[in-house]
Formats: sequence, structure tokens, C-alpha cells
Amino acid sequence: MKSYDVVIIGAGVVGAAIARELSRYKLSIAILEKEEEPAFGVSKSNSGIIHPGTQNPAHSLKGKLCVQGNLLIRKVSQELGLDFKEIGELIVAFNEEEISRLQELKREAEILGVPKVKLVDKNWLRVNEPNLNSQAIAALYAPTAGIISPYRLVYALCENALKNGVEMYTNTKAENIIRNDDYFEVHTPKGIFKAKYIINATGLFADEVSKMAGISDFRIRPRKGEEFILDKKRENVTNHLIFPLPSKISKGVLIIKTADGNPMVGPTAEDVEDKEDVSTTEEGCRKIFDLARKLVPFINESDVIAYFAGLRPVALKDGLRPAGEDFIIRYEDDVPGFINVAGIQSPGLTASPAIALMVCDILKNKGLALIKKDAFYSERKKPLHLFSIPFSETKKLIEQDADYGDIVCRCELVSAKEIKDAILSGATTLDGIKFRTRAQAGRCHGSFCTTRLMKIVSEQTGKPLTEITKRGKGSEIVKGTVYS
Ligand SMILES: Cc1cc2nc3c(=O)[nH]c(=O)nc-3n(C[C@H](O)[C@H](O)[C@H](O)COP(=O)(O)OP(=O)(O)OC[C@H]3O[C@@H](n4cnc5c(N)ncnc54)[C@H](O)[C@@H]3O)c2cc1C
Repeated sequence: MKSYDVVIIGAGVVGAAIARELSRYKLSIAILEKEEEPAFGVSKSNSGIIHPGTQNPAHSLKGKLCVQGNLLIRKVSQELGLDFKEIGELIVAFNEEEISRLQELKREAEILGVPKVKLVDKNWLRVNEPNLNSQAIAALYAPTAGIISPYRLVYALCENALKNGVEMYTNTKAENIIRNDDYFEVHTPKGIFKAKYIINATGLFADEVSKMAGISDFRIRPRKGEEFILDKKRENVTNHLIFPLPSKISKGVLIIKTADGNPMVGPTAEDVEDKEDVSTTEEGCRKIFDLARKLVPFINESDVIAYFAGLRPVALKDGLRPAGEDFIIRYEDDVPGFINVAGIQSPGLTASPAIALMVCDILKNKGLALIKKDAFYSERKKPLHLFSIPFSETKKLIEQDADYGDIVCRCELVSAKEIKDAILSGATTLDGIKFRTRAQAGRCHGSFCTTRLMKIVSEQTGKPLTEITKRGKGSEIVKGTVYS
């Protein structure tokens, strides 16, 4: 039985951010993840927006943590070599009634402390967002909105936490939790993990894990969001993130700029029961493009190169009533040592560094000694991506290492060296490689590079080709060898 001060269950952005934050202190920490790699849950299927905090009720916990997270993510990105881009958002109004709604949103944002929000008029919009529907008459401008690669954020947080001593166990599902006098046992297929404190950061499954510990006053109901990714040639279709007025349950269908250049439209917001249902639909596509065209008329379905759906983990109180659509982050006094971090729907990606600080505070207030380590490695070397450097630099790199000249993914310009580096940093599946390097994320979706990628993974890890998977057990790609 392995023994830890803290066991974090779930390696999405929330678990990863908490792990990194706690790794500053003299603690033994393990993070358990049921999937083959981190970031395979909600954290891989979202819009990648670092929200400024404009569309959260004033005084909500998620609003407060969003504003803090937006500030903190800048430092985290700098330390971990991530590309965060501050591009600003516009919430657009088409009539006078909508302008008064913008004024309300502005007031709420100011109460939450969102910096520099202002109303802009039609003339401003013509100059700064020329492709916007000419019927738009005003917008709420929040310049601190930004974009980031959501999975690269998770991988960077995990890598840095591991460098600072956290132990990570993947393919390790928490199946049961037993509370003894002053410690817990987390039962998994890989054995029992003993912990003084447990942090439940399991996204869509937070209700089930909480129940294992004896707390069952909330239920997680997924809210599906379908998103459609457009060709990079449309990269500059807008200059900002474009939002309609939000509804009670969602921010509406947006025109999104992404960290990798492809614009995206979506997401829908549909309550579903199945926690594994990430299907997309023709109806969803139609709905999204109809709404997107109201914002930017020449957005077109023919530019779609890929699509996905993500599930927002919405918490329902007593299993029935919406818990105010807010996050549930609390120490469970009835089960001392157990902390729930649940209902982390949007803006959970943005809020993650602030959630991590809040969890550290809870632990400290409940008696865990947080003593700083003599050495905490805050920095991570920025991984190199050929697609983001000038050709003159690429030439120099090839002179140093010929693998940089061996282009594996032609759509996204990813070299054999980047693939090998991704494997060295922990990728074990083809999706893990895609999320880290973008190989297979272009127009051909891996038609050209999948076999080559499999060969590289096999050579680097010693795994036979039949064991190489898309995203873990059950998603093997080839069955065996055909002899002629
Ligand atoms: C369509 C959509 C768009 C969004 N857009 C944005 C956005 O633009 N900006 C923003 O800030 N937020 C956005 N969000 C919200 C954001 O994605 C989530 O808040 C965030 O990813 C939640 O992270 P998490 O770590 O709590 O959950 P997850 O990423 O799901 O992590 C939980 C992990 O726990 C693991 N797990 C579950 N059960 C167990 C178990 N029993 N044992 C071990 N491991 C287990 C899972 O496999 C998973 O890896 C969006 C969400 C959706 C769905």
C-alpha cells in the first residue's frame, strides 16, 4: 500500500493545477487518472478561452475564480512555456434592449473586478471588427479575454508537478474509498493508495467519487457542447472572440479564435444524461452555423475541417435542482480530509489556477502544514514547434538535428524530433501526440502520418504496433500482421 499526504483523483486541468500548486510544499502527493493519459476528460474538449469574467453572476464563486484565474494564467503560461494570447472579447448587441443588457453585464463584471470593460459603438466595431454583421450596433469589449491550448496547459502543469516530486498514476481508476480513523484508502486496479487528504477533481464523475466517500448531496448532469473547427485559411475571420448575449445556461454560440490558428464555432448547450455521449449531430451543426452567421455573415460550413463535442459537468443539488450553476469547492466536514472540487463547468479552464490556490487554502485552514520546499522548479522549457518559428530558424535546427528535417505531419508541419520529444515528455497514445504536437490535427486528420507516427511510437517505446492505441485500451489501431 503506497502512502501519501494528499491523493488527487483526476488529471484534468483542475487536478493538474492543484498538483502543481501543492508541489511547492514538502508533501507527498499522488495524482490518479483513470484514462491512459491526462487531459482526456472535459479538459480536452472545450473552447480554449481564458475568459475575463464578464458573463458570470456578480458574487458567484466561479466569477471570482475566473477573474483571478485570468490574471494567474499569464504567469503560469510564462513559467511553463505556453502560448497565451490576450485578444479581447466582444459581446454584441443588435438593438436598444440588448444594449441595456450589455450595461447590466458591464455592472456585474465591474462588481467582480473585471478590468477595462467598456461599451463600444458601431463605428468602433466597423474599424476593429470589419467582418462583424453590419446590423450590430454596440458591444461590450473586455480586452483581457485570451486564448490558450487547453491540453498543452494540462500537460505543462502535469510535467512541472512531476518534476517537483508529484507521482502520477494513469490507467488508475478510483473504484472505492474507505475511511479509516485518520486516513483514507483509495482502491484502484493498481492497488490501494493511502492518503491523509483526498481531492476529488474528477469532472463529470465527481458525484460518483464523492458518493464513494459518503457525500451524495449533488449530482453531475452533463451539458453537451458541440463545436466545429474551421480551416486555418479563415484564421483572421475575426480579430476578437465574438459572443452573442448570454442566456441563463450558456454563453451562446461564439466565433472563437484558437491558440493553433483554426477558428471554431460553437458550442451548443444541451442537457444530456449519458456521461460518455460526445457525438455531434447535423442538427447541432445547422443550429450553430445559423447562429454564427448572425454574428459574422460569411462564416460557412464548407470551411469545417473537424468537429467534436464536450460535456460540461453541471452540478445539480440533491440530484435535482441546479446548484446555482456554480462551482462546488468545499471541505466535507462530515468526512474529514475529503475535499470536493465539483461542478467545474465553464469557466473552469480559466479558473483552474485560482481553484488550485483555493484548495491549498482549504487544506492549510484544515490543518495540513504547507511548508515551502527549499527548491521549487517553477519553469519548464518551452517545447519547440516548427509551425511557430520562421523558416530561417528551422534551417538552423535541421543542421543541429536532422530529425527536425524529417516532416511527419505535412498539414501541420510537425517533425520526427517533435514527435520523439512528445513521447519523452509522456505521450503514449496517438491522441496524446496530437494534443502535444498537432500531428494529425490538420486537414487530412492523420491519413498521411498515422502509420509513420505508430512506427515512431513503436521504435521509441518498444511496444508492438498492435498495442499502440488512439486513446488507450480498446482503441487499438491495427489487429495484427497480414503475411503475403
Ligand atoms: C464545450 C465546452 C466548452 C468549454 N469552454 C471553456 C472555455 O472556453 N474556457 C473555460 O474556462 N472553460 C471552458 N469549458 C469548461 C472547462 O473545459 C472545464 O471546466 C474543465 O476542463 C474541467 O476540468 P476538470 O479537471 O474539472 O475535469 P476533467 O478534465 O474532466 O478532468 C477530470 C479527470 O478525472 C478523471 N476521472 C474521472 N473519474 C475518475 C476516477 N474514478 N478515478 C480516476 N480518475 C477519474 C477523468 O478521466 C478526467 O481526466 C468548456 C467546457 C465544455 C464542455
